[in-house]
Amino acid sequence: MGARAASSALALSLVLVACSRNAATGRLQFLLPSDDEEIQLGRDADADVRVAMPPYTEQKAATALVVEVGRSLAAVSERPELPWQYTLLDDPQVNAFALPGGFVYVTRGLLAHLENTDELAAVLAHETAHVTARHGVVQLRKQATARRSVGIFRVIDPNLRHIGGLAARTAGLALLAYSREDENEADDLAIRYVQAGGYHREALVRVFEVLTALERKGGDQTPPWLSTHPDPADRQRRTAAALSIAATVPVRPQAEYLQAIDGLAFGEDPRDGYMLGETFVHPRSGFELVLPPQWKAFHDREQVVAVSPDERALFVALPTKFSDRARALTDFFVGGEITAGERIEGKVGGFPVSSQSFALLDDNGAKLMGLVAFVDFDGVVMAMVAIGPEQGWSERADVLARSFGSFGRIAERGRAEVQPARIDVIALPRAMTVQDAARELGGITSADGLALLNGVALDAALPEGYLLKQVKAP
Ligand SMILES: [Zn+2]
Repeated sequence: MGARAASSALALSLVLVACSRNAATGRLQFLLPSDDEEIQLGRDADADVRVAMPPYTEQKAATALVVEVGRSLAAVSERPELPWQYTLLDDPQVNAFALPGGFVYVTRGLLAHLENTDELAAVLAHETAHVTARHGVVQLRKQATARRSVGIFRVIDPNLRHIGGLAARTAGLALLAYSREDENEADDLAIRYVQAGGYHREALVRVFEVLTALERKGGDQTPPWLSTHPDPADRQRRTAAALSIAATVPVRPQAEYLQAIDGLAFGEDPRDGYMLGETFVHPRSGFELVLPPQWKAFHDREQVVAVSPDERALFVALPTKFSDRARALTDFFVGGEITAGERIEGKVGGFPVSSQSFALLDDNGAKLMGLVAFVDFDGVVMAMVAIGPEQGWSERADVLARSFGSFGRIAERGRAEVQPARIDVIALPRAMTVQDAARELGGITSADGLALLNGVALDAALPEGYLLKQVKAP
C-alpha cells in the first residue's frame, strides 16, 4: 500500500508540476511554455508578420486609436504585464489576429468597415482574449521550427481570414487553428474586457453583423473550411444572448472614430506595385520592368512573378537582403545542386548587374535551365530569376533577356506618383439614401459597396448631417 501511495503521490506531483492554471480562464492546462518562452515565440512570429505585412504608418490618428484602445483592454485583462503591442497593418483585407505573448494586429481593411471606437474595442478584445487565454501557444511552439517564410500564414485568425482575397492566397497552408471552444472562450472573455474598458457592449454584437455582411459579399470566394469554424451569425446570437440584448444593433457612426480613419488608404495600394500593360511598376521601390508578352503576372508588396503561357517557365523579380551583388550571387549557388554557367558583369537601366546562367535537374531528373541577375539599385540588391525546361529554352532566353534588360528606374513621373483610393468621411448635405449618395457625392463605390462599407440598407433614409464613409479616387 505504502509503495503504491508513494508512486501515486509522485505521479500527482509530476502532473502538478507540468500543469499551470490559466490566468484568464481558470482552467488547468498541461505543459504550457513559460511566459518568457511564450513571449519569445510571439516576438519571432511578429518579425515574420512585419516582413509580410508592414504597419500602416501614414495616418497617425488611426494608429494612435488602435494603440490606445488596445492598451485600455490589455490593462483590464488578466495578463496586463505582458509586453502588449497593438499594430495597425497596411493590408486591404479585412483581418485581425493575435500572437502569443501579446502581439495583436488589425488591418486598415477592417478599420474601414467599422463605425466607432466601441467596435474597434470589440475586435481587439477578442484578439486580446486569444492571448490571455494562451490559445495557439502550443501549436506555435510546434510550428516554430517550420519554415519561417510561411510564418504569416500560421497566424491569421480563422474567423476573419476567410473574408476577402487573403483566403484564396493562403488556402491550403497551415494556419494556427483555434478550436470552436477557443473561439467561444475568446468571445466570452471579450465581453468582460469591453465592459471593464468602458466601451459599449452592443458593439460586440454589431461587429458580427459587419463580418456576416462581408462574408455574404465574399460569395464563391468562401472557402470550405468555413464549415469547421463558428459562423459569425451564430456568434452574434450567442453573444447577444450572453449580454441579454437584441441580436440586431443599430449602426452608430462616431465622429471621433471616423475622423481618425478619414483619408485611410482603401483597397490595394498601387504604390506597392501595379501592372501597366506588360510593365510592372513598383513606386515604393522606384523600379519598373517589362514582363514577357502574354505571360501571366502576379504580384504582392515585394515581388512580381510571371508564368509562361504553357505554365512551364517562371520569371521572378524581388528585393534581396544583400547589400552586395557578388555576395548575393555566391549565396544563390551555395548548397544547391545547381550547375553555374558563365558569369557576366554589365549594366541594366544604368545600374551595375551581375548575371549568370545555370542548370539543374528537377525532381523527375529533367533538366531545367535558368538565368539569375542581381542589380545594385539605390542601395538595394534586386534579384531577377528565370527558370524553365531545357526544351525550348533558347527561344525563351531571348524573351527573358528582354525582361532582364528592361529593368530600370521608373521612366515617367506620373507612374511613380500614383496614390491609392481613400476613405472620405462626409456629413450628408441633406437627407438621402445610400443609393442617392452613391449617385450624387462623387465617390467611386457602387451603392451596394457603399451600403456594405457603412453597414446600412440601400434604401435606409439617412438624415442630413449623417456621417457617411465613401471611397474617393486618388
Ligand atoms: Zn478568434
